[in-house]
Amino acid sequence: MPRRVSIFGATGSIGQNTIDLIARAPGDYTVVALTGATNIDRLARDARALNAQIAITAHDDLLADLRAALSGTGIEVAAGARAVEEAASRPADWVMSAIVGHAGLAPGLAALRQGATLALANKESLVCAGALMLGTARAHNARILPVDSEHSAVFQALTGEDMAAVERVIITASGGAFRDWPIEDLAAATPGQAATHPNWEMGQRITIDSASMFNKAMEVIETREFFGVDPDQIEVLVHPESMVHALVGFRDGALMAHVGPADMRHAIGYALHWPERRHIPVERLDLAAIGSLSFRPPDDTRWPALRLARDVMAMGGLAGAVFNAAKECALDGFIAGRITFPEMAQVVETVLDRIATRGGHIDATMTLDNVAQADHVARQEARAVIEKRAG
Ligand code: NDP
Ligand code: MG
Repeated sequence: MPRRVSIFGATGSIGQNTIDLIARAPGDYTVVALTGATNIDRLARDARALNAQIAITAHDDLLADLRAALSGTGIEVAAGARAVEEAASRPADWVMSAIVGHAGLAPGLAALRQGATLALANKESLVCAGALMLGTARAHNARILPVDSEHSAVFQALTGEDMAAVERVIITASGGAFRDWPIEDLAAATPGQAATHPNWEMGQRITIDSASMFNKAMEVIETREFFGVDPDQIEVLVHPESMVHALVGFRDGALMAHVGPADMRHAIGYALHWPERRHIPVERLDLAAIGSLSFRPPDDTRWPALRLARDVMAMGGLAGAVFNAAKECALDGFIAGRITFPEMAQVVETVLDRIATRGGHIDATMTLDNVAQADHVARQEARAVIEKRAG
């Protein structure tokens, strides 16, 4: 029986890599739902090629375009955030969660509620609502498999191991586009410069988040949520070559490292085929040719986002949702040229401080509504802070 798969965020970087793997073995899969947002041509092309049951754009006003692009194919079409969430409730065995941002949370929860295995690339889900995601998975006997490369690496290093024997988890960071820039030059950095990654090909937002280390800050929180380790057991190591993705340190002194090429198809394929390991067409590393790998500690002055991640974990509750929302707005502000690169972290810190001081939102029970409310309040606050700075 072919496996029923759905891909949320099919038109993005992770979505396209997922489709690349699925299209190599078409007989193994039945494609239920594919979703996108603005890229209607790509969504329609892939829905046709994979013979999807339904194609959905998150944008209501693009429904007519999608319908026209798929007319005569028999493929259902729909539009809007609600339709995306509904599509996640359609029975599927394996669901890729690769929408970018907070918008990925509700569809991921819907997929878990129907008992699907959720391949989780959308790190915002765990940052904003880790306990809700894990609790929903448990309640519905569903499984979450990590797709973020560092977390896939940790997951693989932990296979067959006892969590009680784990002393520390180390995730690596390339350092992004500005790793070696003089700190005083960062205020003049442009979004175009920030969106160029030394090793990974990724979407624009996560690439800029790599340069600011907000991506790594999110991943530290993701590590805590997913593996249940204490904040002080999580370390970040700058590793410019991006070949060692993570390491797990055990109480007998052993460090298990996961080494592989900077190609997301490995982590996606691992989650797709788990618990098997099947052939994946990624580059095979020639360590003799590479010669050496380097590591250094991260610098909190250059990358204040890492310090903020520690603050968020100490606050607990819905601080992750506030952090993520403020970060998304700060990133929008930087991309729009309203604030500078270093100001992104300042905006996030100010928003966290203000909302924490006011109380209420961070301590609220973790429900989807309360997470949405914390997200909303943090965005309002962030926009106000950005307006003030942009003058
Ligand atoms: P992209 O920006 O390349 O793709 C994002 C996808 O989400 C696209 O399909 C886009 O549609 C869709 N989308 C955008 N906004 C909305 C919305 N409001 N509602 C529904 N769908 C929307 O991102 P990536 O593929 O790089 O990243 C996806 C997720 O995976 C992110 O959470 C990221 O942090 C995470 N991740 C990515 C990695 C990578 O290597 N790229 C590595 C690890 C994690 P459209 O393009 O049609 O507008
Ligand atoms: Mg990652």
